[in-house]
Amino acid sequence: MLAMHEMSVTMSLLDLVLEEASKAGAGKITGVNIVLGEMTGIIDHYVQANFELLSQNTPAEGAELSFQNIPRQARCRNCAHPFQPTDFEWACPKCQSSEIEITGGSELYVESIEVE
Ligand SMILES: [Zn+2]
Repeated sequence: MLAMHEMSVTMSLLDLVLEEASKAGAGKITGVNIVLGEMTGIIDHYVQANFELLSQNTPAEGAELSFQNIPRQARCRNCAHPFQPTDFEWACPKCQSSEIEITGGSELYVESIEVE
């Protein structure tokens, strides 16, 4: 299966990175630090592979991507208990309430870029 979702995400990432580098007057991008939440469903090695493909002949060619993976995290609105929901269980493990709030795992952004 082709990772189309990753492809469009990678295109946006590359656009952003190239724009930032040009604003900074950088000649070459050597690294990109990405914060990636588990709930985005984005697979980091697909992003890396797409990036290598798309960045050819741009200042980002050969840049090393590093991913900071954020696990999904929720908090109960009823008793404020923080927990990690699984694929099948989204209720609070303490009070069984299903009134929960997602507090982590949906992040997807470029934290910083390294240039030379
Ligand atoms: Zn609770």
